[in-house]
Amino acid sequence: MKVKRERWSSNFSEWYDWVLSEAEIYDYGRYPVKGVGIWRPYGFKIREKLLELVRRELNQTGHEEVLFPLLIPEELIKKETEHIKGFENEVLWVTKGGESETDTRMALRPTSEVAISYMESLWLKSYKQLPKKYYQIVSIFRYETKATRPLIRLREVTTFKEAHTIHLTYDDAERQVMEAVEIYRKIFDMLGIPYIISRRPDWDKFPGAEYTIAFETLMPDLKTLQIGTVHHLGQKFTKALDVKIQAEDGSLVYPHQTSYGLSDRVISALISIHGDDHGPILHPLIAPIKVVIIPIPSVNNQKETLNIIEHCKRVKDELGKNDVDATIDEDTELTPGEKFYKWELKGVPLRVEIGPRELNSNTVYIKRRDTLEGKSIQFEELVVEVTRTLTEIGLYLKERGEKFLKEHIFKAENLEEAKKALNEGKGIVEVHWCNDNKCGLKLEEITGGQVKGVPFEKREVNGSCVVCGKTATNILRIAKTY
Ligand SMILES: [Zn+2]
Repeated sequence: MKVKRERWSSNFSEWYDWVLSEAEIYDYGRYPVKGVGIWRPYGFKIREKLLELVRRELNQTGHEEVLFPLLIPEELIKKETEHIKGFENEVLWVTKGGESETDTRMALRPTSEVAISYMESLWLKSYKQLPKKYYQIVSIFRYETKATRPLIRLREVTTFKEAHTIHLTYDDAERQVMEAVEIYRKIFDMLGIPYIISRRPDWDKFPGAEYTIAFETLMPDLKTLQIGTVHHLGQKFTKALDVKIQAEDGSLVYPHQTSYGLSDRVISALISIHGDDHGPILHPLIAPIKVVIIPIPSVNNQKETLNIIEHCKRVKDELGKNDVDATIDEDTELTPGEKFYKWELKGVPLRVEIGPRELNSNTVYIKRRDTLEGKSIQFEELVVEVTRTLTEIGLYLKERGEKFLKEHIFKAENLEEAKKALNEGKGIVEVHWCNDNKCGLKLEEITGGQVKGVPFEKREVNGSCVVCGKTATNILRIAKTY
């Protein structure tokens, strides 16, 4: 089934579906359960590459990986009422074993704060055991009633990395929030995903949290996509689950917690932001194949064609010895042109072409997937040139992404401008705000956008609230959003 090639810049939504399906990344909408998808082998490898990187960053900062049960009993999940209220319409329940009712209703985890806090109440007794930083990478379930989107809004999120930390004091937990923000910054910077960081407004924070910090990126259709969140949980869950520990002076206290998560959306952002009309451009750090080698057969000389294949194998071996994953497309059914199309659509960052000319001059022709620039290099320079070019591709993608985001942050002086900017698809709109929730909600109502929060980084504020006209104390961001 061949779907028509779609345009990245002007028809992003269809482009996205086309890429996931035709590049054989993620099969969505065909399995007979709504809101779930299947990672195909190529997509699974991209996911694995990302997870390797995430695990490395977390392990290096003292996080320990755990694995909790998928099932959370109702009595446990109901302990933190504000939390369950935030999820209650989305929780999927297991109520039957065969034909009989289960002795207790059990939720398919929507997130794991209560489950982890419960076990912490059994594991942790003394301040000397703190801090603890756990994480797991699991499926979570939410019975989404809004329109679902592959990797963006799902009923089963298969790549939910949730970290849960516990600390003696509020300030210790706050420092952990800052560490988490730095870890996410580092991960997104490495992957070249541009982002803004906002403190969510009170009405949109994680249910049960003291406050929420969110990372957002901007998709090619100028809608924002939340790609990471960090929550200061205070003592909400430790009090609800009765997690008490002995402090240094012998008294029993409720410790403070944080939680922070990433999901499939990071992969969605990677595929979408680094793309063009030919398909995605995979960042070399997460590309399962970094280099594809395409033999260009000799027109009439069978012997020469065999020598070309041999030359291709030497190139692959040489790259392999230097940890550059390369593959040769030896398919005899496809023409070189068809192979170019196929591998561009798969987003392989670098292509090597080898034909009679390269064979006879002991060179290879390399072509970048991002800028589509090509050049001939000597075989002896292969590893150095390829490694350097892959690094350059990563940097190019990062710069391109950051430029795109920067060009689409619009400062509006009044409500009319804000509304117009949102409706014309200018991207993220920033306005002056008096810090009153009522004005924030009014802004959403009038402009039809969604408030994303105030900038995480401190800003100079000089102006008046676009809603009530009082002196502004902050900047508020608003956008059309996924
Ligand atoms: Zn106001």
